Amino acid sequence: MLTIRDLEAWLRRSAELVGEHADELTALDAAIGDADHGANMKRGMTAVVSALDAGSFETVGTLLKKTGMTLVSTVGGASGPLYGTFFMRMGAAQASATGLDGPALAGAVEAGVAGIASRGRASAGEKTMLDAWYPALRALAADPQDLAAATAAAAAAAADGRDATTPMMATKGRASYLAERSIGHTDPGAASTALILQALAEVAR
Ligand code: ADP
Ligand code: MG
Ligand code: MG
Repeated sequence: MLTIRDLEAWLRRSAELVGEHADELTALDAAIGDADHGANMKRGMTAVVSALDAGSFETVGTLLKKTGMTLVSTVGGASGPLYGTFFMRMGAAQASATGLDGPALAGAVEAGVAGIASRGRASAGEKTMLDAWYPALRALAADPQDLAAATAAAAAAAADGRDATTPMMATKGRASYLAERSIGHTDPGAASTALILQALAEVAR
């Protein structure tokens, strides 16, 4: 079971990892976008940590709604509304819960990922963060009972999904302006998604 405190720890660890990798995320975005993804995510996750420090959250719904709204209002760029929608939909799926077991976590992540897809009007294979989220979700949902194993599998699948964006041609987001020239570069949003799944696996283990 992931308690509210575990979910908070997930968000804090995500912020740490995004901060540590911000320059890397920005370098990826410099190659096929506008060189701000690391700064965007660092600003957003820093604001999430401040919101966690300032408030007290007793349900999955209130915690993740606050997280999502904070990201929408501070990240800017394409990724702010997309990650914001992810956390808001994930929270809404288990609004009054005070913790998540494996199946509940998988269901809530599924709702969040569906939110990203509808908000971004994107699907698999377009070289976006969804190419990390979808394989992670499949791994998580395949056998969700053992949280440590399921989240470790999801983190590994997200990292593989991130790497699989490298040979793709972008057809959504800023990178799509480059068309064929986007090939050979890893998608920055898929890279930040892999960090968020890594953080989840770390807190669930
Ligand atoms: P911006 O492109 O506005 O500068 P960021 O650099 O913060 O925003 O985020 C870019 C990332 O957002 C991309 O690497 C990609 O993963 C993701 N992204 C962009 N557009 C979409 C979309 N329509 N659907 C899903 N993800 C998207
Ligand atoms: Mg950018
Ligand atoms: Mg930008």
